[in-house]
Amino acid sequence: MKRVQSYLESLADDRCVWLDGEKVSVLDHPAFQGTLRSIMRLFHMLDDNEIYEKISYLSPSTGERVHISYQIPKSLEDIRRRRSAFQIWCDETDGMMSRLSDYARSRLTGWVAARKEFAKYNPDFSDKILKYYEYSRDENRFISIVQRDVQLNRAKQYDARFFAKSGLLQITKKTAEGVYVSGAKMIATAAPYTNEFIVYPVMRLSEEQKSAANMLIVPADAKGLHMACRESFAVSIDKKTDYPLSSQYDEMDALLIFDDVFIPWEYVLIHEDPEAIWKIKGNRHSNSLGYHQALIRLHTKLEFITGLACKLAETTGSSAFLHVQEMLGELIIQGQTLKGLILAAEIEGEVDEEGIYLPSFSYIESGRNLGTTFYPRTIEILQRISAGGNLQVPSSLKDFSTEISPLMKTYFRGADIDAEGRTKLMKLAWDLIGTPFASRHSLYEHFYAGDPIRNRASQYLSYNKGKLIAKVEKYL
Ligand SMILES: Cc1cc2nc3c(=O)[nH]c(=O)nc-3n(C[C@H](O)[C@H](O)[C@H](O)COP(=O)(O)OP(=O)(O)OC[C@H]3O[C@@H](n4cnc5c(N)ncnc54)[C@H](O)[C@@H]3O)c2cc1C
Repeated sequence: MKRVQSYLESLADDRCVWLDGEKVSVLDHPAFQGTLRSIMRLFHMLDDNEIYEKISYLSPSTGERVHISYQIPKSLEDIRRRRSAFQIWCDETDGMMSRLSDYARSRLTGWVAARKEFAKYNPDFSDKILKYYEYSRDENRFISIVQRDVQLNRAKQYDARFFAKSGLLQITKKTAEGVYVSGAKMIATAAPYTNEFIVYPVMRLSEEQKSAANMLIVPADAKGLHMACRESFAVSIDKKTDYPLSSQYDEMDALLIFDDVFIPWEYVLIHEDPEAIWKIKGNRHSNSLGYHQALIRLHTKLEFITGLACKLAETTGSSAFLHVQEMLGELIIQGQTLKGLILAAEIEGEVDEEGIYLPSFSYIESGRNLGTTFYPRTIEILQRISAGGNLQVPSSLKDFSTEISPLMKTYFRGADIDAEGRTKLMKLAWDLIGTPFASRHSLYEHFYAGDPIRNRASQYLSYNKGKLIAKVEKYL
């Protein structure tokens, strides 16, 4: 429990987490307890003799076991070991928790691997990011990445004339010790559980907007940093049977408000440089490693929901019908497609000039972009298969202990399952279809990697289409 203990202690700091009109303690408030337990289970794995070898490697600095997301891959074998380790973490939450630090750690590892490329923008970048990476790795820090700007006025926000009122996080003062920043960033998933945020913009900024063109490491307890949480969708862990997912996996999302937050120079990785920030966003090392993890997580979740849909169809007897079989087949094909793209990305990876093995981003990008249509279709199929059965569910399992218990047990049963079992199954499905947790997940899978419309357009723009067009031109 060594790491779990020090993680919990790290949350007892001066962080400002705002929820329901008050400043709350993450360690004490009921909204965070289910998720904290899930994180503790995962962190404990690093000290668990049965599992740790599968999810860790030896830190080159301390010789201690550290999480594998920090390992800079040098071979296909290294990438496969990363996948297996991520798979173990994702299986633990059935892909429901997406920002457990493994994504952010993978992105950080990517930038560290590519750090020499950034020396031309900032000669100190390499030393600064390496120092933070080693600290984060060896101290098992929980890190989150927040890239997007607060949604104020998308039509004008990036117009340099609107800059003063844009809400963009920008430097307001500089001293010999560091910079002061004000503004806001969205959406910080897992903010209350985070130790440090890595913050930078992903829009192309101009020279006039350069005071917003920074890459910063921000400690969660920095003075003047406020985490304005959305409403909690977490249900008490006591209601785990009725809300199996909401009670354990609500990661929480927050707007980060910076009110004159001081950042020391050692945590200013990129300083007022729009071109460098643009390169940070497009960096293939960080994107390949980060989204490799994200795709494994999505695949785990889709496989879980496919299993749930198959079980539901069997328990209602609808798996006997051709069109239900066809829908279940479609779910299997979606999962297989993502799996195929993960494997293709790994096998067709390439070694860069520094000897780093990167999965092919092209396949990863395809999987990520397909995910935005696969997920809503998955939920639609789940809904179509379970149909009115979603509402033919008693309010709670306690309803089976009333005086009409024998009647309840007769009419709530399924084709090959008793009434309690069927009720548990339908409640699990409802937690993916109808609860606030479910709605948040639909929004997440659509937008987590940015606007899917612009992401698809960007795939078209960056793809080497010449070889495709050449096939056609021979007819012209
Ligand atoms: C639940 C959830 C959790 C998330 N967690 C994180 C996180 O931890 N870290 C992180 O960095 N990001 C996270 N994101 C992603 C991020 O915060 C944004 O939601 C995402 O980038 C989309 O931006 P937006 O929501 O501001 O939508 P907008 O960019 O405001 O888009 C809204 C609509 O306007 C259109 N639009 C807006 N601007 C333009 C334009 N210039 N050109 C064309 N169309 C435009 C879009 O197509 C869209 O239809 C998360 C998202 C969600 C939903």
